[in-house]
Amino acid sequence: MHPIKRVALVAHDNRKRYLLDWMARNREHFVGTELLTTGTTGHLVEEQLGLPVVRFQSGPLGGDQQIGARIANGEVDLLIFFWDPLQPMSHDPDIKALLRLATLWNIPMACNESSADFIISSPCFQDYQRRIPDFTSYQNRKIQP
Ligand code: PGA
Repeated sequence: MHPIKRVALVAHDNRKRYLLDWMARNREHFVGTELLTTGTTGHLVEEQLGLPVVRFQSGPLGGDQQIGARIANGEVDLLIFFWDPLQPMSHDPDIKALLRLATLWNIPMACNESSADFIISSPCFQDYQRRIPDFTSYQNRKIQP
């Protein structure tokens, strides 16, 4: 069995309520998982759901990048990222970078409630062996300086 064990959670301010409501509906799935969060999101998850989290910086202060680093280290099984499609963000490059790294490393990712529902109700949530991309040829590529 390869259950989803390490879940990264990020929600922008206008989407935090949606994430918390969704988490509350699915709380039992997260008991015993490692929750990796940006600062304010994690504070709310701890306070309102009583779930322990590993809390990084707030997103605009580098939290998205810290989660991205965990992804690059192979330490994230699922990303729930409720980003705000209506507001420009000071840390837009970091948001794009997080989405990029999750895509690059083949991390399952939900950016809204419906997608999160699909993931949480999938049998893959209990047992999924993610294909880890092999970047050997990229790493060994010859560059003519
Ligand atoms: P926050 O960060 O959880 O600290 O609000 C989220 C973000 O804005 O990326």
